[in-house]
This record gives sequence, structure tokens and C-alpha cells, in this order.
Amino acid sequence: MNIIIFGPQGSGKGTQANALSTKLNIPQITMGDLLRAEVASNSALGEQLKAIMNQGSLVPNEVTATLLEHRLKKDDCQNGFILDGYPRNLVQAQTLDALVHLDTAMEIWISDEEALSRIGGRRSCPKCGTIFHLITNPSKTDNVCDKCGTALIIREDDKEEVIKKRLAVYHEQTEPLVAYYQTKGIYLKIDGRPSIAEVNKEVFAKLNIA
Ligand code: AMP
Repeated sequence: MNIIIFGPQGSGKGTQANALSTKLNIPQITMGDLLRAEVASNSALGEQLKAIMNQGSLVPNEVTATLLEHRLKKDDCQNGFILDGYPRNLVQAQTLDALVHLDTAMEIWISDEEALSRIGGRRSCPKCGTIFHLITNPSKTDNVCDKCGTALIIREDDKEEVIKKRLAVYHEQTEPLVAYYQTKGIYLKIDGRPSIAEVNKEVFAKLNIA
């Protein structure tokens, strides 16, 4: 099954993509992670990407297209994939359509207010990548990673002004995907406001997987 999953920042799309990947035994491909790996490699391209990502803007379509094409060619995608964070605009949707046939395009919906409150409380470990939340998933000791003891940070692109920018980009560039996939008859809308377990139940039910 070839599935894309999209939604505003903080909607929990990564968590649901992960659950689907485990359930269906197909890889979760997260564009943000592919881009962050490029940044971490300290390449010249990575330096340029870092500046764009820290502002909350989308990186150029050519960059994501190259990373995507390379990743989809790997053997583990033969039985399908869950693509998380791609496409994020109509040009990317067309790029994807030229590469593969999609079965489902799933949107996990939450309001802007909910997104701001969810991401505003996020604290990340700069060393091992574990993510905590001040209210819903606090670390055992304030501001210290439970797993590796490193001091937690607010990721540059999780700062309030940047989140607002990312939400504006979402409404302007990503939301048109709803109509695009509705026309193709493969759009599914999921209410992302309930608990992770409840959302998960709805995701599985709508995909007819037990
Ligand atoms: P995420 O962790 O999915 O919110 O992605 C972090 C950042 O990576 C975004 O704010 C963008 O700057 C960039 N990014 C992720 N996916 C894409 C994409 N499909 N197209 C362009 N930029 C992207």
C-alpha cells in the first residue's frame, strides 16, 4: 500500500505514520528527517537547507524531489511505504504522481490553536532526538533528557514565531492538496484532536485494517 500522510505541525502525523509502518510492515519515509540528515552531514547543501528550515519555509522542490526519488528506489519500498511530510505543495504532488501510484492520501486535521499549544510545549534532546512535551509528556527531571541526560532545547523551528510561519505555509501551500486528492478519489480526513490511541483507531478503521 502506498500512503501519504499530511497535516499541520503538531497533528501527530509522524506518530500515526509510525504506527501504520509497524502494522503494515512497510517503511515510514519522513521528509523532514531526510532533510535533517542532510543538514547534519555538514555539506554545503545542508548549510543552505538549515537556514531555510530554521525560518519555517519550504526547501526547494528540486532538493526534496532528488531525496525522494533516491529513497523510493530502495528495496524496502517494494511492498509500499508511508510518506510523511511529502508532498507539501501541488508541484511536489505532481512529482510524486510521476514516480508512483498512490492508494491513499490521509490528512490529520487539528486547528491552529491546538497546533500552537502542542508544539509550543515541545522540548527536544539535541543529542538523541527524543521529544518531550511540558504538559503531555514531560521529562522526569525538568529540561533534562530521560534517555541520555543531555539538556533539552526548543528546536529553532519550534519557536512560536516560526511555528506561526510554518502554519501559514501549511494553509497556503499544503492545504490545496485536499482538493487535489479529493478529485482523485483517494482523500481521507482524520480528526487529529482526540488522544493518540483514539486517532490511531480511526486511522486503522478508515483504512480497513484491524
Ligand atoms: P517537519 O519536521 O516535517 O516539520 O519538517 C521540518 C522542515 O523541513 C520544514 O519546516 C521545511 O523547512 C522542511 N521540509 C520538510 N518536508 C518538506 C517538503 N516536503 N518540502 C519542502 N520542505 C520540507
